[in-house]
Amino acid sequence: MARKYLIETYGCQMNVHDSERMAGLLEQAGYEATDTDDDADLVVINTCSVRERAEEQLYTRLGHIKGLAGRTGRAPMVAVTGCVAQQEGAQVLAKSKLVDIVIGTQRVKMLPVLVARAEAAAEPLVDVATPYDEPTFPLGLTRRDDPVKGFVTIVEGCNDYCSYCVVPYTRGHERMRAKAEILREVEELAASGRKEVQLLGQIVNHYQAPDDAACDFAGLLEAVQDVRGIERIRFASPHPRHCSDRLIAAMRDLSKVCRHLHLPVQSGSTRVLKAMRRRHTREEYLRLVEKLKSTLPDLQLSTDMIVGFPGETDDDFRETLSLTEAVGYHSMFSFKYSPRPNTLAAQRMPDDVPEAEKTRRIVELQALQKSIQARLHEASVGRTVDVLVDTTSRRRAWELAGRTSGNTVVNFPGESHWLGTVVPVTIERAGAFGVWGRPAASEARHAEAATC
Ligand code: SF4
Repeated sequence: MARKYLIETYGCQMNVHDSERMAGLLEQAGYEATDTDDDADLVVINTCSVRERAEEQLYTRLGHIKGLAGRTGRAPMVAVTGCVAQQEGAQVLAKSKLVDIVIGTQRVKMLPVLVARAEAAAEPLVDVATPYDEPTFPLGLTRRDDPVKGFVTIVEGCNDYCSYCVVPYTRGHERMRAKAEILREVEELAASGRKEVQLLGQIVNHYQAPDDAACDFAGLLEAVQDVRGIERIRFASPHPRHCSDRLIAAMRDLSKVCRHLHLPVQSGSTRVLKAMRRRHTREEYLRLVEKLKSTLPDLQLSTDMIVGFPGETDDDFRETLSLTEAVGYHSMFSFKYSPRPNTLAAQRMPDDVPEAEKTRRIVELQALQKSIQARLHEASVGRTVDVLVDTTSRRRAWELAGRTSGNTVVNFPGESHWLGTVVPVTIERAGAFGVWGRPAASEARHAEAATC
């Protein structure tokens, strides 16, 4: 009887993709996937430590697993991977007796081997070594559940050391993947019928091919544009200071590059941005947004924002609100600041904004952002937009959802075999988190014909 695994993933797209890779490795080692924890022989918790709350989720989840008997009468083996594992190492074992293996971010490619070793040794095992220059995951083994879209990592790690950010400590220094390897993976995605590729990196637009001196990030976009079968290209996350004119021109000229840019800003106050070591000011960011909007008038922007950073005054926070209003983001990930281990802010800057004030600020920011999103979505009512269908409802096959090039979620009725096709949809109704519409009549027939 094949052994079963369950992987639970917290955090960013990088973690989601690592989980896909671990799933592929486990299946090659003979495991089968399950989606219920009491059916699993192995539970992998792929953790995030970017926010304190994300880290707490690990220990809450371990508390739930404690009561499981497992299908063989034994509790499942538990492996903790990802950023908390890298950061805490053996301390995870000290905090929870349930954990059998702690595997750092650079060792998850060894997961099946380490599981077998831990079983043989019958005692907990910790491997958080950082052989940063070893090759990444093998190609061809990733288990991708999404039939329409796929992630491809192009840059790992980060050298920027923003004062609040734990990533350089958990993911290591910046490493670029070879262009040839990236293109092989994109071709593999296209050959499997996937239509959209999302290029990933902590600072994705800092890419410089180690195997082609002439190829920067814009050059890589040009190369991916040429891969037959791929219809849409997205990337996350770019840093504002690496958004060169050459990149903006490539975004304008390459037909497959989506009209969406997730452009983290973190604060609207230059004073706070300096303390965050972001290396861009409010004014530079707004100038960049202006250039992007004038070159790409249909571009939709999203961002990350932190409130309550050490020393953030009410005036600084007002600048965050005014920048949010000035840019008009289509979506935003916003967080209350929490000190993260090893970071400059945690070591040198007192966490001096009271928790109640952080809460008040985030509530105000999120209310503003929600009203902006609703307004932008409302303005799209009556327009016809191209939607790449990526979801069919589990309950009703005729309920579909997908995204526009600008990344707006569109819900509409249709046929389940439209999954993976681009359908023109006329928007009829809008809400803060998405819009609803109907397939545009003549084009809907075209979409049907195209999939027959
Ligand atoms: S650029 Fe800053 S926020 Fe982004 S991963 Fe690097 S250190 Fe973290």
